[in-house]
Amino acid sequence: MAKEVVLEINNLTKYFPIVKGFLRPKVVAEVKAVDGVTLSVHKGETVGLVGESGCGKTTLGKCVLQLYRPTSGEVMFEGQDLTRMTDKELRPLRQKMQIIFQDPYDSLNPRFTALDIVGEPLRIHNISQGKEYRDRVAELLDLVGLAPYMADRYPHEFSGGQRQRLGVARALALQPKFIMCDEPLSALDVSIQAQIINLLDDLQEKFGVAYLFISHDLSVVRHISDRVAVMYLGRIAEISNRDELYKEPLHPYTQALLSAVPIPDPEVEMKRQVIVLKGEVPSPLNPPTGCVFHPRCYKAFKDCPAVTPILADAGGGHQVACLLYKTSRP
Ligand code: SF4
Repeated sequence: MAKEVVLEINNLTKYFPIVKGFLRPKVVAEVKAVDGVTLSVHKGETVGLVGESGCGKTTLGKCVLQLYRPTSGEVMFEGQDLTRMTDKELRPLRQKMQIIFQDPYDSLNPRFTALDIVGEPLRIHNISQGKEYRDRVAELLDLVGLAPYMADRYPHEFSGGQRQRLGVARALALQPKFIMCDEPLSALDVSIQAQIINLLDDLQEKFGVAYLFISHDLSVVRHISDRVAVMYLGRIAEISNRDELYKEPLHPYTQALLSAVPIPDPEVEMKRQVIVLKGEVPSPLNPPTGCVFHPRCYKAFKDCPAVTPILADAGGGHQVACLLYKTSRP
């Protein structure tokens, strides 16, 4: 039986206007940070969203949670389009959608104790008070592998990994259905990263929570994701289940990204050939015509600067946006 869809993103765009003129301000251009993304996340599933910095993945994450209001498109959660709701209408749904931030050092208020930090969502939504509140925080600390007696400590008294555990406990406080993980491991040591991945895995198994896991690191995403979406210049270049994407990447951009990832097997590693991409990621203010990847693509051909590829089925749920696979719009 197909799994329940928790989150559905349909043709989402986020353009930031560039305004000029003081007395008569006028929009002179737009930064196309997210440009027509369609993506879904199922119950208990982890979808990894990867791409170089500046590709729009964090903006997409913020649009999903309505921290940025999208320019167009839909974000369906529990059958409701979040983009059409007011802040007041969104409030009850926010309990079910949480976020774990990139940097546990920055995201925790240094003047709050662990009790205040983990219990913050319970206070904001008036869920529990007094002994019940303390007990719930103790339970949450225990869930993420921290001792309940640590509730009165301040963030500086915790290690980096423990601080991220506090962030995870806070995200779990309201028993969400969906958690946005925005580069949650990038500020941590590799040894600690594995512990947090295991923790997120265990919690998913226990509560069936769905994750959208944003990262620039393909090795990390491989460990945690069921499906992986590769983003380039505001668009999805390729999406597939994890094993297939790593075994047989179709999009030249995915192939280049994966060619740069070291392989633990020394024999295979010896034969690895890195595909070096030309130039830098173009500005989303003035994206290239046709396929936005064409100025850097080592497989580009004459149609690529003129025709925009759309994301289309390449079989077995594997989707790719590349003209080599005959998936185009005029
Ligand atoms: Fe490369 Fe052309 Fe495919 Fe774009 S459409 S990825 S430029 S081959």
